[in-house]
Amino acid sequence: MTVAQFKPGTVNVEKMAQEVLRRLLEKNGGGEPKPVPMNGTRQVQVPIGISVRHLHLCQEHLEILFGKGHQLGVYHELYQKGYFAANEQVMVVGHKRCLEKVRVLGPTRPFSQVELAQSEAIALGLKLPVCTDGAEPNTQPVTLVGPQGVITLPGGEGGGAFLARRHIHLSDVTAADWGVKAGDTVKLRIDGPRPVTFDDILVRVKAGWRTEVHLDTDEGNACLIRTGQMGTIIL
Ligand SMILES: [Zn+2]
Repeated sequence: MTVAQFKPGTVNVEKMAQEVLRRLLEKNGGGEPKPVPMNGTRQVQVPIGISVRHLHLCQEHLEILFGKGHQLGVYHELYQKGYFAANEQVMVVGHKRCLEKVRVLGPTRPFSQVELAQSEAIALGLKLPVCTDGAEPNTQPVTLVGPQGVITLPGGEGGGAFLARRHIHLSDVTAADWGVKAGDTVKLRIDGPRPVTFDDILVRVKAGWRTEVHLDTDEGNACLIRTGQMGTIIL
């Protein structure tokens, strides 16, 4: 029984919606959505995931913040297989304010990095660039406080804080099917009461990835879209 794994009173509606969506997509042609010709373009319906502020940690920093030999615990699995929201949360310290309980995403990575929305960066007093990953030269220094220790990420190639560049995850098979490659950019149209078209959705490709767009909370709130809802990629 699928429903039985959600305890009464703690039903995670977004997670259930994602699971229903995933099964519908699997039924319709073996998994990944396919573009259809429309008005001189090709368009394809894709699921949207809204990335809430989060951080990734290397094992060394995890142990400084949470203690020697600490391993991340799984809070819940993410839509992309092999990735998870961890039990661990840390405080992110800015120049003006702090953000308590920012969740760590697993597994651990070679570099630590903090991904915030612009509204959060402003509240914290941080001026952050848009980056694709946390070891780019212009990521910014930021301090993290855990239950066992404190660490300041140096920024730049040592890892730091940034605004995540919006992107779409595709498997190598789906990317070839759509005629796009890693590093390309595509448009995303969000319909609804506050319709928005986003340019500059970066294509990211890895074997085994499920098709999914990642926006941050500011971008999602701007067009009133939530995790598990659909958008239209325009090719
Ligand atoms: Zn992503």
